[in-house]
Amino acid sequence: MKVLKFGGTSVGSTASIYNVKRIIQSIDGPKMIVLSAMSGVTNYLVTLIDEIKNKNHKEIINLNAALKAKHIELLDELIKDPDKYTEARTGLNLLFREFDDLLTCEYSENNANRILTFGETLLTYIFSEYLFSSSIKNKLLNAKDFMHVGNLENPETSKVANRLNPFLNSEEKAPIYITQGFVRIDKFNRISTLKRGGSDYTATILGAALNAEEVQIWTDIDGFHNNDPRYVEDTHPLANLTFEEAAELAYFGAKILHPQTISPVIDKNIPIYLKNTFTPDLPGTKISSEISEKGLKAISAKDGITAIKIKSNRMLMAHGFLKKIFEIFDNHETAIDMITTSEIAISLTIDDTKNLDPIINQLHNYGDITVEMDHSIICIVGEGLIEDSNTFKLFEILNEIPVRMISYGGSLNNVSLLVASKHKVSALKALHKSLFKRNEEALVSCY
Ligand code: ADP
Ligand code: ASP
Ligand code: MG
Repeated sequence: MKVLKFGGTSVGSTASIYNVKRIIQSIDGPKMIVLSAMSGVTNYLVTLIDEIKNKNHKEIINLNAALKAKHIELLDELIKDPDKYTEARTGLNLLFREFDDLLTCEYSENNANRILTFGETLLTYIFSEYLFSSSIKNKLLNAKDFMHVGNLENPETSKVANRLNPFLNSEEKAPIYITQGFVRIDKFNRISTLKRGGSDYTATILGAALNAEEVQIWTDIDGFHNNDPRYVEDTHPLANLTFEEAAELAYFGAKILHPQTISPVIDKNIPIYLKNTFTPDLPGTKISSEISEKGLKAISAKDGITAIKIKSNRMLMAHGFLKKIFEIFDNHETAIDMITTSEIAISLTIDDTKNLDPIINQLHNYGDITVEMDHSIICIVGEGLIEDSNTFKLFEILNEIPVRMISYGGSLNNVSLLVASKHKVSALKALHKSLFKRNEEALVSCY
């Protein structure tokens, strides 16, 4: 079994859905297709939920009508046969009725999650009907029946497998299964999500649950680039990444993958291929356990980082001090990303500020506390990176950008820098120039 995930832009228009069908048909063997909502739809649902909170009935009616019109238009364009269209439209109307009911309820978190995940529900239904209308046999599975993910950071994929297998082993086998990305059932059996961009994570959780041959993530770019193409020019796709490299880059902000995508498949050694729906013949990126080349590979950046400094000239070097500090973060279930120490101070970073106030209150017992918001971690990654003879060049950035913290040597494969977010783009560009551009220029001058 192969798992194929198609993201929002890959299913954002009739033309791109034709591409998706062609890609699916070109791949041999049984397939599990994971679909996101059409691009823009989940953002739209976020707005709708805000209007429900504000009890803005007029806006709710307008947004609901536009959302329905978008999906009806898609169905109109995809299914031309009148009988098949009528049948598919009847099913779509039933889903619309279910959606209308959700919109009339009072705001609750539970209801909000049902609404938020409805984009995937609508699109998978339409796509399945479209394949049927093209005489392509398939089975639509409801992800809420099996995507039981109690622990967001550490999904029990064997539990997902136990729930999923009866659907796959039923009398009525299908060569193509279709299901929704993003949605999950939480530990209280409520509908929830895998967080924004979570369909990538659905794909690898299912990949592990199914012991899939491979997971393919189809998106709007030709693979994992060596820097963020939204901010830096002249980035290029990487042919190979190791699981560790990709996990690090995704965790530290590379938008192409949800931060947790890699972890479910590492132990089972299931490769992930990143491919472009619009140029399927290009090779894309293979993420696997194979180390193809050592040294500097790629840069990513994660925003929304808060730096906390604890200054204490009395206790810092006393043994047990760090333990007490870490316990405070642990008790508030807050992960620390970076840490540096000096004789009198310790600086660390967090991205989840939900419990910042109680954490700071407790830290006050141990010294003077400074909190700085709006920072970004820049992550530079590559197997054996810190042994690469070019790595020293990254410190040239210190000439141009005020760097708040540096983490070097924690692993051989990663160097992280903390900068104020207002310097992020210039830092990404400066690093790209000093780490990659000069290598390329040197290569060109050799020929
Ligand atoms: P999808 O809707 O298919 O899930 P996303 O928008 O979530 O697609 O992810 C693809 C986008 O990620 C690309 O269009 C690109 O702008 C952005 N991106 C950020 N960093 C990288 C990177 N290092 N390599 C490739 N794309 C990246
Ligand atoms: N539709 C969801 C989102 O926009 C999940 C995804 O696209 O992966 O966040
Ligand atoms: Mg995405």
